[in-house]
Amino acid sequence: MHHFSYHQGRLYCEQVDLSRVADDVGTPVYVYSTATLRRHARVIAEAFTGVDCLIAYSVKANGNLAVLRTLAREGCGADVVSGGELLRALRAGIPASRIVFSGVGKSRMEMKLALDQGIHQFNVESAAELVVLSDVAATLGKVAPVAIRVNPDVAAGGHPNISTGKAGDKFGVAWAEAPGLYQQIQALPGVEAVGVDVHIGSQIGDLAPMRLAFEKTVGLVRQLRAEGHTLTRVDLGGGLAIPYHAEDSPAPPKAYADMIRDITEALGIQVILEPGRVIAGNAGILITEVLYQKPAPDRTFLIVDAGMNDLIRPALYQAHHDILPLREAGADVGWTPFDVVGPICESTDKFASQRLLPNPEPGDRLAFMSSGAYGAVLASQYNARPLVAEVLVDGDRFAVVRRRPSFEEMIALEHMPDWLS
Ligand SMILES: *Cc1c(COP(=O)(O)O)cnc(C)c1O
Repeated sequence: MHHFSYHQGRLYCEQVDLSRVADDVGTPVYVYSTATLRRHARVIAEAFTGVDCLIAYSVKANGNLAVLRTLAREGCGADVVSGGELLRALRAGIPASRIVFSGVGKSRMEMKLALDQGIHQFNVESAAELVVLSDVAATLGKVAPVAIRVNPDVAAGGHPNISTGKAGDKFGVAWAEAPGLYQQIQALPGVEAVGVDVHIGSQIGDLAPMRLAFEKTVGLVRQLRAEGHTLTRVDLGGGLAIPYHAEDSPAPPKAYADMIRDITEALGIQVILEPGRVIAGNAGILITEVLYQKPAPDRTFLIVDAGMNDLIRPALYQAHHDILPLREAGADVGWTPFDVVGPICESTDKFASQRLLPNPEPGDRLAFMSSGAYGAVLASQYNARPLVAEVLVDGDRFAVVRRRPSFEEMIALEHMPDWLS
C-alpha cells in the first residue's frame, strides 16, 4: 500500500501534484510519502502486538534525517551498520537505547562511538571482532551487550547479491562455531552475551526460508541457555519483500509476525526486528524527465535525466521498477516498447528494456516507483553529477529534505597540490 496515485490524470503523492514538485525542485528528484512511511511502521507494530519487540528500522535502506525522524516519531529504533548511520539515527532523535549496530567490519572508532552513546546491542560477526570489541569496551570501563550473528546456511532473497545467510556468504559466523564464541564471551572482560542475531537476506517474499532460519536460531538460543548463558534477546533481522510488480504478492507483515510470534513466544524473550525495505521501499519514487527519444535499428532508446548514479538497483541487481508517467496517458495513446536509459557513460546505465510506455516526449516526466529503499542512499556523484535531491511530502505540503549540491560544493573537498597550483 502506498500513497502515490492519479487524480484527474496527474500523479500525486498524498495531496501533492508531483509535477509541481518537479517544477519547483527540478529533476531527478526522490519523493517520499510520510503517510506511507507511517502506515508501514504502524502495520508492522500492530502485527507484533503482544510481542515484546523492538522495531529497529534499517537505516541503510533510507537514512535521510527527515525519514528517520518520521519513523522515530512512530516509535522505531534503528539498525545501523556504520558510525555515520549511528550519528544519523541519533541526530534524527532515535535514542541510543533503541539502536543496534550490525555489520561485518566495525572499526575501533565506531565501536567507541557506539559504546560512548550506550547503544542497545552490538551484533558481532566474527571471533576477531569480538576480541577487539571487548578490548575497546574494557579500555572505556564498559561492557558491550553482544549478540553473535549466526549464519544458518539458508538461502533466501530476491537476488544472489542480497542473500546473506548461506554458508559462503561473508555474513555471520558458521553455525558450528557459534557455541564456542559464547564460551569465549564469558572469558572476555568487555563483552556480555545478551542474545543471538540472524539476518538471511533481503526481498524475501516467501516465509519458508525465514521460518527455517528462525527455528534454527531459536533452537540455538535454547541450547545456549541450557549451557548457562542468560540470553534475553533474539534479533531476527529484516528482509521482508515488497511488491515491485503489481502482480507480486509477497508475504504480508501480519503473516510474518504471526510466524515469529509462534516461534518465539514460549521463550520469554525480546524480539528485535530490522525492517528496511518493507518500510521505505514503496514510500518513495524517483522522478525523472525525458531528454530524448533515440531510434536505433532494432529498438528505441528513451534517454532520461536520471542515471545509475541516482538509482543503481537496476544495474546492480537487475531490479525492476514500474515506470509511470506523471501525466496519465489518454486512452487514445499507443503504448510502445522503449529501452529506458540514463546519461551515464556505462552500458549498465539502463533502467528497463523493451518497457511499454505511452510515447513519452522530451520534457515529459516519469516516476520510477518503489524507489524509497536502496535508492538515494546508494546514489553517487559519478560523471560529476550532483547528488540527487530528496523531497518529503506530508499531506498537502512538501519540503526539500536534501538539496542538490552546487558545483562549488561538489568540488569543495578537493585540493590542488602545491606543485600544480
Ligand atoms: C540490510 C539489512 C537489513 C534490512 O534489510 P531489508 O531487506 O531492507 O529489510 C536488516 N539487517 C541487516 C543486518 C542488514 O544488513
